[in-house]
Amino acid sequence: MQIHSLPIARPDETLYSVAARIRLANAARNDRDACRSMFGPSRNMRVSEFPVNLAHFCGITHECFGNPARVLSNLTLAGFFERLDSRPWHAGSSNAPVATAGYGLATLSNGSAGRWRICRRCVENDLAHHATAFWRRAHHLPTGFLCTIHDTPLATCMSSPLERHNRFLLPEQTSATTVLPEIDWVTHHHLLARLTALGIDVLEDGRQPVDARTVRATLFNALGDRGLLTTSGLLRRVQFASEFAHRYHFLSQHPDFSLALSPKGIDILQRGLSHPGPARSAAHNLLLIDWLFGTWQAFHQQCLWQATMDCLTLSTINVRQDEVTHQHRKACVAFLEAHTLATRSCFSRAAPASFRWLLRNDEEWLNGNLPRVRPMRTQGTLF
Ligand SMILES: [Zn+2]
Repeated sequence: MQIHSLPIARPDETLYSVAARIRLANAARNDRDACRSMFGPSRNMRVSEFPVNLAHFCGITHECFGNPARVLSNLTLAGFFERLDSRPWHAGSSNAPVATAGYGLATLSNGSAGRWRICRRCVENDLAHHATAFWRRAHHLPTGFLCTIHDTPLATCMSSPLERHNRFLLPEQTSATTVLPEIDWVTHHHLLARLTALGIDVLEDGRQPVDARTVRATLFNALGDRGLLTTSGLLRRVQFASEFAHRYHFLSQHPDFSLALSPKGIDILQRGLSHPGPARSAAHNLLLIDWLFGTWQAFHQQCLWQATMDCLTLSTINVRQDEVTHQHRKACVAFLEAHTLATRSCFSRAAPASFRWLLRNDEEWLNGNLPRVRPMRTQGTLF
């Protein structure tokens, strides 16, 4: 495909959507050929999950959409999953950068190859103003239940995977349904709106991700405040599972949450909380933050407080360590000044605590000032 015309990316548009509109504006043999032109050669023949090389994409589009980091940040959900420490893709042993690792187009755009959602009223508005509709990132978040502009439930697209593999589809080219009998939209509207807003706050947050250790400590503090930790700081597993499952029972039949809220899913979450290791899923992290903190902002502030307290504790330990070192060195210097023929064994008997401490924590200084074997003094002349 020769690219002669580039569309302007619309607010919150996904990379898949931009690629589909680039294809629409330029002649190509077919959509697979268009994918190869935009994202580099690949043996993968699935349009929706075509491996993405953003270095190639930015080169061929002359950085009209920005450099690879900017495209990743503005047109994909990579930053969203990064901030939640819940990437839906496996980095593999090579740990290649997300921009060039070859993750699928729909996975980067929507977080999952099988997640395609629209708001019918957004589509109507898009068609009225631009003649084509586009896919939005906010509609594809794990907690994307409602359109925040129109306050209506998002519709799930029904296109077959085969159709998606063969060609690009824009929202107006798919059929969609809002009939999800597993959710009582009226009764749980407030909670669904809250979870939707939480996801969008994470998506739009431009700050650096908080480190996993601080996040875990913050979550544990909040669990402790709710009486869900034992006196030794372990998770009360039965109470935790019961409260978590009860609070989000209304989502347990939803296809994106049924696994996370099953007994097996909750057990995986508990193990993830109890032992630092593999990252928790985005669904689990979003529900935990909603339950324990209410909003992303409140959670982030608690993380900052936790990080500050951890730093203070660390610096207090360092100051104390310096004071103790100074005291033991002082004891050693006083001993050396008082004994001209001082040896290690004499010092170890005279000040055993200081000797042991310096040997264990300040060995280099001890060796410099009180060597293991003192050299014999050279006798210059006999008489
Ligand atoms: Zn809408």
